[in-house]
Amino acid sequence: MTTLELVKKILFIEILKGLALTLKHLFTPAVTRQYPAEKREPFPGSRGLHALVRDPETGKAKCVGCGLCAAMCPSQCIYIYTSEGDDHKKVVDRYEVEVLRCVFCALCVEACPFGAVALTEHFEYSGYTREEFYYTKERLLENWDKYMAGEKGKKYFEKFWRPKSEDFGAPSVLHAEEKVGP
Ligand code: SF4
Ligand code: SF4
Repeated sequence: MTTLELVKKILFIEILKGLALTLKHLFTPAVTRQYPAEKREPFPGSRGLHALVRDPETGKAKCVGCGLCAAMCPSQCIYIYTSEGDDHKKVVDRYEVEVLRCVFCALCVEACPFGAVALTEHFEYSGYTREEFYYTKERLLENWDKYMAGEKGKKYFEKFWRPKSEDFGAPSVLHAEEKVGP
């Protein structure tokens, strides 16, 4: 051991350095937010609770039950039940998401050719039972009305999820009939 190291040891230099650092931080403002008293706006496009897009013209879900979102979902937590309507068109009887199993990858949103499913910015939800996190078609449509209706939902698709290449034939969020294909 050198003389300098010996002096440092006797005078507890390292401990004093540590205490000085602690003391310094006592007088610097805290960076911790006192959640939930202090909140900040979620970043646009952040991935929160799911929603099914409601067509503003028909008032119904835009989903056509093609099943692409469910096929892409790595958690396999989307369940779609369809039947044949009077006009031989597919009817989406049930569209359900088991939110507790979701990993919020947003592949379902990206896979949907109709802009019919979204992840809202709402992330503050809780519950006591698993059932509360089982979102049915009606609840998912309510989420759209609550968190994404109007300009917000339109901007969401334009800014974050609409494929940039025209090759995708990406649909307008407002007009389902424009969609798909070259
Ligand atoms: S965000 Fe990902 S894990 Fe969640 S439902 Fe969509 S595809 Fe599945
Ligand atoms: S991919 Fe879109 S249109 Fe197809 S079932 Fe999923 S949400 Fe509905």
